[in-house]
Amino acid sequence: MNAAPAGAAPSLSARARAIGADIAARHAEAVDRESRFPTEAFDALRRERLLGAMVPTELGGGGASLFEVAAACHALARGCASTGMIYAMHQIQVACLVNHGSNGWHRELMARMAAEQLLLGSATTEAETGGDIRNSVCAVEADQGTGEGRFTLAKNASVISYGDQSDVILVTARRNPDAPSSDQVLVVLTRDDYRLEKTTLWDAMGMRGTCSDGYRLEAAGVTDQILPLAYADLSAQTMLPVTHILWSSTWLGIAADAVSRARAFVRSEARRKPGTTPACAVRLAEATAKLQQMKTVILTAIRQYELACGSPELLTTLSFATAMGTLKVTTSELVREVVEAAIRTCGLAGYRNDTPYSLGRHLRDAHSAALMIGNDRIMSHIATQLLVQRDGSGPFE
Ligand SMILES: Cc1cc2nc3c(=O)[nH]c(=O)nc-3n(C[C@H](O)[C@H](O)[C@H](O)COP(=O)(O)OP(=O)(O)OC[C@H]3O[C@@H](n4cnc5c(N)ncnc54)[C@H](O)[C@@H]3O)c2cc1C
Repeated sequence: MNAAPAGAAPSLSARARAIGADIAARHAEAVDRESRFPTEAFDALRRERLLGAMVPTELGGGGASLFEVAAACHALARGCASTGMIYAMHQIQVACLVNHGSNGWHRELMARMAAEQLLLGSATTEAETGGDIRNSVCAVEADQGTGEGRFTLAKNASVISYGDQSDVILVTARRNPDAPSSDQVLVVLTRDDYRLEKTTLWDAMGMRGTCSDGYRLEAAGVTDQILPLAYADLSAQTMLPVTHILWSSTWLGIAADAVSRARAFVRSEARRKPGTTPACAVRLAEATAKLQQMKTVILTAIRQYELACGSPELLTTLSFATAMGTLKVTTSELVREVVEAAIRTCGLAGYRNDTPYSLGRHLRDAHSAALMIGNDRIMSHIATQLLVQRDGSGPFE
């Protein structure tokens, strides 16, 4: 990224880099150890007005592109993976509202998101259906008691990251109690609309700062809060591609920090034996090559998304869905491989928890990537799609 001209406000990614390198990195160990929300980093993101980055400028937001937000997720995750992932999950929900929230209620909320720097969470996973987020037991029920246009819903949400800190939660639910499990809508709920009762506590191997507790969610609202597009289409056009791009960018940040530590280790070894290339530099080269591979597939996916953006036909092709699924599977495997190569580079200094080259947290955080919508689930979905997909006729196909 180019530096901002003298006198111009720093870019979104420059501000995210500063927060990631200074505040998020400084508190990352404590966030991980205590499995607590990264409060300091989010206070700073609010001060810099970065929670409203993707809200359109006419509604008071920053009007940032997906590329800029991806760069911000990467910069934050370099300092603290949980901070980067929370920022990514928040922006995925913002993108759904920006792309599909067309009525007055949604626009008013977007203006509030920018003005009040609201934090958005997500409740797609259900205790009954697990990672199969394209099916819901939870249903929107017309509320006969309180008058026309009102609804209630209840969900056994087995994972809602930063549920306690969220100001708004986007919830998947069946369109009505008689609808099939796959006929879902996305419902936008503000804190005043719902009540959360905690059912499980998040004590996980990694991504400990996401505070991904389980809840029973009960809500009531007006039907204007329901995004009009069917969730299947909304997911294909926005939620799925944006999720995979921003998650991948976050994992790239974890991998980049691991490579930085490995490079610093190799340099310190080289200083001890001037004139020789340390043997472990070969592993650093391997980690760097895989990091570069991650970067390339993410940039390609962003370009593919930008080219298809605004065209529901292109966004819903099987080849686009396959490209986005493949992105997630590829980067989620590569992040672990990069961190492992960085550990091999540093040897004991990377394996120990008390050196400047420690990589245990990176490895634990990286292991969440393959599980956040299981890679095998995605691959079996892609395998089914391949049965009906025709060869493409566009460039590079
Ligand atoms: C850090 C983190 C934060 C999260 N935050 C949220 C959040 O804010 N909101 C939210 O709703 N959810 C959240 N989730 C949950 C996430 O979106 C997935 O729903 C969850 O990770 C899937 O959990 P699972 O592995 O138990 O379920 P499943 O997907 O049911 O998988 C169980 C196992 O079965 C395998 N499997 C499943 N289907 C197939 C198949 N067809 N073929 C072969 N194998 C298959 C999987 O690979 C896996 O090994 C979060 C998860 C993580 C790790």
